[in-house]
Amino acid sequence: MKQRVLVTGGAGFLGSHLTDRLLAEGFSVVCMDNLITGSTDNIAHLAGNRDYQFIHHDVSEFIYLDGPVYAVVHFASPASPLDYHELPIQTLKVGSLGTHKALGFAKAKGARFLIASTSEVYGDPLVHPQPESYWGNVNPVGPRGVYDEAKRFSEAMTMAYHRVHGVDTKIVRIFNTFGPRMRLNDGRAIPNFMMQSLTDKPITVFGDGSQTRSFCFVSDLIDGIFRLLQSDLHDPVNIGNPLEWTLLQMAEAIREISGTGSQIVHKPLPVDDPKVRQPDITRAKAELGWEPRVDLNEGLRQTMEDFRRRIELEKVGA
Ligand code: UDP
Repeated sequence: MKQRVLVTGGAGFLGSHLTDRLLAEGFSVVCMDNLITGSTDNIAHLAGNRDYQFIHHDVSEFIYLDGPVYAVVHFASPASPLDYHELPIQTLKVGSLGTHKALGFAKAKGARFLIASTSEVYGDPLVHPQPESYWGNVNPVGPRGVYDEAKRFSEAMTMAYHRVHGVDTKIVRIFNTFGPRMRLNDGRAIPNFMMQSLTDKPITVFGDGSQTRSFCFVSDLIDGIFRLLQSDLHDPVNIGNPLEWTLLQMAEAIREISGTGSQIVHKPLPVDDPKVRQPDITRAKAELGWEPRVDLNEGLRQTMEDFRRRIELEKVGA
């Protein structure tokens, strides 16, 4: 019998990539997703796989599954600022109620538990780069608060289940990640810049583009998460690529790779948009032997090819 992992949000961008890795490592996977931001396109290739099961379910409601479970990885959540702006209550519910349900389920099964947290717990950081020991600078009542506070609550709840119930929990703080399967209309910077470049539309840089992010290619991120899941760590671990880009640099790089004639235009900076973000990955290096390996230009090219293919499919109405 293969060990079974429950992946909440398994039809999402990261959840589906993690699923592929788990299947490749010899686990069986149950995906739970209500498909509000996830898509069956991301898991279509798994149809007929005997080690894979999809359950259409909102994990903010009670979770039930027969039989043993090795691990629960809680990845369900809207994750693009556009999404959590449009779905603020669902975002709060899945981070709070959903995390509680997933933890309760892990406890009942004696399963290990891993929560997808985020660099957003650091808010608009006053410490740079951000080590896990930094407590953050978050506006609880701003438009990003619904995501940031839900994830901060989910970390607190996870540690409480570890301390009170002895659940073997792990917390990954995910920094900006990109790669194939991101939605064409995701709304985050890299998918927007790619869509705009590939359809010859203006490339929208918010503000003057001097704000920074550190972008990690998806396969590197998944490798870090897989290592964390197998580890004995309980404290949060940053996983991300420390290479820091201004958004203007990223827009220019994507414009160049696409070969588009699109112009860069500036739009207003969203409220509470963090000015800088860069992971300190000392802990991941020391404890997991992990660091990113993929060349980012190569990652951007792979992602661009995936976007190109899907845009073509949309054109022919497939
Ligand atoms: N951004 C941008 N143009 C876009 C989308 C985003 O300049 O079309 C900026 C956004 O204001 C932020 C950065 O890109 O400074 C990263 O935004 P994203 O939504 O990708 O994720 P965040 O890191 O803010 O959660």
